[in-house]
Amino acid sequence: MPDETNRNSIDVRGVRKVFGAVDTGFVALDTVSVAIRQNEFFTLLGPSGCGKTTLLRLIAGFDFPTAGQIMLYGEDIAGLPPFKRPVNTVFQSYALFPHMTVAQNIAFGLEMLDRPKAEVATRVAEMLRLVRMEHLADRKTSQISGGQQQRVALARALAPQPKVLLLDEPLSALDYKLRKEMQLELKRLQGETGITFIFVTHDQEEALTMSDRIAVMSAGKILQVGTPHEIYDSPAERFVAEFIGETNFIEADLIAHDGDNARVKLPSGQEIGASLQEGHKPGDKVWLVVRPEHAQLVAAPQAMLAGTIENVVYLGTDTHFHLRLDTGSIFTVRRQNARGIVDLYEPGQRAGVAFADGTARVLRD
Ligand code: ATP
Repeated sequence: MPDETNRNSIDVRGVRKVFGAVDTGFVALDTVSVAIRQNEFFTLLGPSGCGKTTLLRLIAGFDFPTAGQIMLYGEDIAGLPPFKRPVNTVFQSYALFPHMTVAQNIAFGLEMLDRPKAEVATRVAEMLRLVRMEHLADRKTSQISGGQQQRVALARALAPQPKVLLLDEPLSALDYKLRKEMQLELKRLQGETGITFIFVTHDQEEALTMSDRIAVMSAGKILQVGTPHEIYDSPAERFVAEFIGETNFIEADLIAHDGDNARVKLPSGQEIGASLQEGHKPGDKVWLVVRPEHAQLVAAPQAMLAGTIENVVYLGTDTHFHLRLDTGSIFTVRRQNARGIVDLYEPGQRAGVAFADGTARVLRD
């Protein structure tokens, strides 16, 4: 028996997409390769214009790659038109039929596929249950809320049991609270149906909340693929570190390295241990990245970096301390608040920063 859990659902191999003439046109995807596993909640994350939707459209079959292949369960799908691909898409605009009821909208795709009436009825009932909309089955979709419309759009896309569901920023029209609710709802739907979800967003928090793995994209390239943990804790390059969460950058000198462990010299002259990816040699000037929650404020003698407090921002659960380091750059320390904490640091005061050995990471770029 093949190992089903590790089977690739979609395998994108060296895909390039040029809009316009091949040699002078706009390169929207620059030789992208990524394997998306069966039953995975996979997110394409990146800023506007980086090529996320283009990749989704190629998988759906709405457009063709200029070069490269897209495999579905090991088979090249280049020859299959969109309606023959076992893939369905949920768009940002739900594109529901306003004059039809919720149930009729969900049934529509199945009827187009000529599924028997009894099967359609059973499947619609199942889908209504899945998205918890049974009580609104006979309501017109023009008379339900945005969140409810989103659920109907999902039910309609899931009804024909696609192998892969593509979701193009489907939550962006919803308000913050509803979006948070729908993120958990989508995660539940993916878990219950076992369908591979490929989700497109530019919202890093959304990606971290829902995904099994994330591909971070920039300017037509995939920069890093990993679990939310890997992407957040071990960003491979500066763009990824900056795009996902808040972070501090420190310029340092690489003294030595042994596998993943490096010794680096900070601007203060102090040497510390840091983690490292490939691509550097002793003597290189490197960028270190330290997350604000991994650093602490300390009295000057124990400090790795020293500076003056510029701002203290109280955010309820956390307090953010912004220091102007003696090197001139700003460094943020995030402290989780608890009862009984007394704030000793105020703007204008001298303070130091420390972090555990190995917490800092040397970036590839
Ligand atoms: P957003 O988050 O804004 O939707 P995106 O990452 O999904 O962005 P794409 O829609 O994939 O970005 O577009 C990638 C790039 O390709 C953009 O610069 C866009 O202007 C360009 N592009 C997309 N479609 C076409 C087209 N048909 N002709 C020319 N350029 C295009």
